[in-house]
Amino acid sequence: MFNALKEQPADKILMLMEMFKADDRPTKIDLGVGVYKNAEGVTPVMRAVKAAEKRILEEQETKAYTGLAGDPAYGDAMVSLVLGDAVARSNVAAVATPGGTGAVRQAFELIRMANPGARVFVSDPTWPNHLSILKYLGMEVVSYRYFDSETGGVDFGGMMADLKGLRAGDVVLLHGCCHNPTGANLNMTEWKAVIAAMTAAGAVPMIDIAYQGFGDGLEADAAAVRLVAASVPECLIAASCSKNFGIYRERTGLLMAVAQDSGLHAVTQGNLAFLNRQNYSFPPDHGARVVSTILTDDGLRADWMAELEDVRLSMLGLREQLAAELQRLSGSDRFAFLAQHRGMFSRLGCSGEQVEALRRDHGIYMVGDSRMNIAGLNKTTVPILAKAIIDSGI
Ligand code: PMP
Repeated sequence: MFNALKEQPADKILMLMEMFKADDRPTKIDLGVGVYKNAEGVTPVMRAVKAAEKRILEEQETKAYTGLAGDPAYGDAMVSLVLGDAVARSNVAAVATPGGTGAVRQAFELIRMANPGARVFVSDPTWPNHLSILKYLGMEVVSYRYFDSETGGVDFGGMMADLKGLRAGDVVLLHGCCHNPTGANLNMTEWKAVIAAMTAAGAVPMIDIAYQGFGDGLEADAAAVRLVAASVPECLIAASCSKNFGIYRERTGLLMAVAQDSGLHAVTQGNLAFLNRQNYSFPPDHGARVVSTILTDDGLRADWMAELEDVRLSMLGLREQLAAELQRLSGSDRFAFLAQHRGMFSRLGCSGEQVEALRRDHGIYMVGDSRMNIAGLNKTTVPILAKAIIDSGI
């Protein structure tokens, strides 16, 4: 049987990590893999997470199964974190999932179950896993223009022109904030126009929000998701706790299905639970319990928010330093977009050869499409990167 299997393409980011490890230049800089790193290059366990874990260790009396939707306290806390009071809780069906990826996967499966002919519109570019899961599920993908490599911003005209091709029942996948891989985001006026286009066509928005708190702040980063949820008849939201709680390996996510028609709640909730049952039965609980412990305790929540804000501001500081350094070295504003971008990533917008030259000549590792993880930098390495960018003729 196994001899019938075909080789799977190697993961480009994991390959890059291997190459980085094997590079013995002491000045090498890793801007590849998408985890937050502090100035010492460490991905720390957040203080509130440690405290919540201690509390769980001491107080938890059973590890019996939770429910197919996960622990209800986690669902409630996360719905409130993401959606605030934009929609009534009774209009939100929600299940815990293994990470944001699990939520994305379950969302696609729900779409396919409800409407096998649905096409999924995705930004060009998008997180590569969106594309590979859609392909694996045999779903039709239509890409819409998103990034303008001349300006480093959103190609909004192109995006709106491509959304004109929407038909009723199509799904539009949008990044709630901190677009991965580009770092370029819609402003609120643009979000409103996108919502109007989807509504006019009868298309359903699906929002992937994996970086709430990494862009302009916890509330600001959720503003677009909340606007969409309050404006459209139905939408799907896949949320991840990996980044903003720093619990990557605990696999903690939530899938929400919002419907203005509360008569649809029970059947939607039942279908989400069914999908969990088919794919892995009960979702993981530890990370979810850490999150609900933090969000429901005033002290832990305040400490988590303070540490998350420090993380956000440190990345913003690095962006501003990098843009200023490049302005100084190039004598132009053509890199100013780096300070406008939000989240952990920025797409530099240079060619594959230039990315390769940065690696070969300077030991700087970024993904082949020129996506840089800003958190891979610190105050000392920013000028080194800026000089390498200019020296490489970018
Ligand atoms: N969506 C996007 C856009 C992401 O960048 C990520 C993390 N790389 C995820 C979803 C999901 O991450 P996880 O499964 O680790 O929670």
